[in-house]
Parts: sequence; C-alpha cells; structure tokens
Amino acid sequence: MPRPIKATIHTAALRHNLERMRDAAPGARVWAIVKADAYGHGIERAFEGLRGADGFALLDLAEAQRVRDLDWRGPILLLEGVFEPRDLELCSRLNLWHAVHCDEQIDWLATHKTHQPHRVFLKLNSGMNRLGFAPERFRAAYARLQALPQVDEISLMTHFSDADGDKGIAVQWAVFQRAADGLPGERSVCNSAATLRHAQDAAVRGDWVRPGIAAYGSSPDFPAHDAAHWGLRPTMTLAAKVIAVSDLPAGASVGYGSTFTAEAPMRIGVVACGYADGYPRHAPTGTPVLVDGVRTRLLGRVSMDMIVVDLTTVPQAALGSEVTLWGTSANGAVLPIEDVAHAAGTVGYELMCALARRVPVSVAD
Ligand SMILES: *Cc1c(COP(=O)(O)O)cnc(C)c1O
Repeated sequence: MPRPIKATIHTAALRHNLERMRDAAPGARVWAIVKADAYGHGIERAFEGLRGADGFALLDLAEAQRVRDLDWRGPILLLEGVFEPRDLELCSRLNLWHAVHCDEQIDWLATHKTHQPHRVFLKLNSGMNRLGFAPERFRAAYARLQALPQVDEISLMTHFSDADGDKGIAVQWAVFQRAADGLPGERSVCNSAATLRHAQDAAVRGDWVRPGIAAYGSSPDFPAHDAAHWGLRPTMTLAAKVIAVSDLPAGASVGYGSTFTAEAPMRIGVVACGYADGYPRHAPTGTPVLVDGVRTRLLGRVSMDMIVVDLTTVPQAALGSEVTLWGTSANGAVLPIEDVAHAAGTVGYELMCALARRVPVSVAD
C-alpha cells in the first residue's frame, strides 16, 4: 500500500470561486491566475475548473506553452512580460499578451520581427516598488509603445500592495488614475483582495480583474475575513491517515525537542504527513487539523514524514482514521488553508505552492 497521504483538486470549487469573482466584479473580464503551476494545484489539473475564465495569466513561458497545449485559444498574459528578447518570438508564435514594465522591454520590442503586432499591458509602479514605470515616466513609455509597429493594443495595469489591509488602495488608486488619465486602453488593477473589497466601484473594477488566491478558495484578507465570509470554497484538500495511536501518560513529551508535554493522560495519533509533504515545519502545537472531520490540534514539532495530533476530543479515532490537513473532509467539514497558514506564521498561498512532489494528486468534481 502506498503511504496514506493524498491531495485532491476540486474542480467544482474552482468553478464556484470563479463565479464568485464574476459576482464581485460584474461586467469585468476575469483572468485565472495560474502562475506557480496554478498556485501549486497543477495547471493541467486546475484547467477544467478554470476554463470558464476569460484568460489565463502567468509568468513562465513554459507554463504559457502548457496552457496552449491544453488547446486554450483565448488570451494568455505574461504578468512580468518577457525576460529576454528572444522570448518575444514565443509571444508571437503562441499569441501571448505581455506586460511591459521597463524600457528594455520596449527596446526589445522595437527590434522584434513579427507579422502579428502584440497586445501589451503597460505596467505602472503606483507604490509597490517592484515592477512598473514610475508615474512621471508612464506617458513617455506609452508614447514609445504607441509608435511601434510591433504593438497593437495597449492596456494599462498596476498592482496594489495593501488591498488586503487597513492601508487599502486609495493612495495607489489615485496615482494610477492620475498617470492613466486620458490614455486610451483597457484597465486592470484588481488582485483578489481588491476584487472582493473594492470592485463594487466600476472604475476600480476596470476591464479585467486578476484574482489569484480567491479562485483557489482562500481568503485574501484573513483574519479580517475568512473564506466563508467571501463565499469561497477550498480547491485543494491535503489528507492523510492516522498510522499509530497511543496513550500518553502525564509528563510525557512528543516529538523532536520535546516541545509538547502532556499535563494529563491523553490519546494521541501519529499522522502520515510531514514537512517533506509540504506541511509547514513551523506549525506549532495548537495548529488546527481535522480527524474524521472533527477539529483538533497538532502536538509538538512537525517532522519530515509525520506529525502527532491530539485525539482527546476524537475518542472514536483509530488506525486509518482520515486526517484533513487542510481543505474538505469526507464528512464535509472544512479546514481553511489560511487557518493552518496563520498558525504557522505564513499565508495560504505559500502552503498551496509548497505541496510536495511526492504527494499523489487527484482531481475530483
Ligand atoms: C499573483 C498576481 C495576482 C493575483 O494575486 P492574488 O493576491 O493571488 O489575487 C494579480 N496580479 C499580479 C500582477 C500578480 O502577480
């Protein structure tokens, strides 16, 4: 028997979450963000659930090729644009739209030979200070692109640093509006948090929204709001089984470093999941986990191949009991990935992306 751990990708949940994004941004087109191999879900596995999107956005040219290999004829957007001049040949061949965030990318376009002019998304740095043209240089970049025969339509984009937090989008949105004022072209500014929190405003919503994490069922602004608040369903379940049960006397400790010591006699279970499966090693005692669909907690340190859980509240648990590390259990109980991430001091994004290669993954409806 293979080691009892598996991940499941939920097609119906992907479809549902995408619909939620459409509800949140009525009239806007929706990019399915499938960078990082569809946030760890696997592009091919997530595709069926996401094919109702208006386009696929990602970073890696090999991933763009994989989306085309799935026979996707619609828009594909490279969110960081091209990394070197010859990438433009693949853009021409696969009809990829690409972000343009720096002068060098415009230089490369100017010398690119293509029969088919490219659609580009000109990126403004509105305050995140990662990619994009500074506001005072945005119009000059627009004018350069407009003058190129290699360029067809120019759309305008920016990315918010604080759409999920108290700071919000007001300052960056004002910077974008000023920089983009009067320039023709479609607009795209909203990530998941901005789509859910700010896209009621038609101007902010723009023409295209770019919700990543929300499509994968995780709340972008946890703990302010959880996934249930936003009507999102988990799209990835990581499940394993109890492989040993024992009774711990008071005073006995669990795991490396003996970081947990029982104050009273208790039942514990050993679970076939560890950090080599992508479970976060920094998850402390108390991190939530479901056993037979009942919420209980992690005890002691996470090891490479195992964790230990408290079975005190799950007396019926036995060898072979189902353990849900995140996602949906067989009885329908949900453990949101962001609850686990939060306990471990990280975000759901990182846990999804870190699902290890050794975990077998299947696709369910
Ligand atoms: C990853 C990414 C997104 C999606 O962000 P989420 O927080 O997952 O919604 C949107 N836009 C750009 C440019 C990105 O790189």
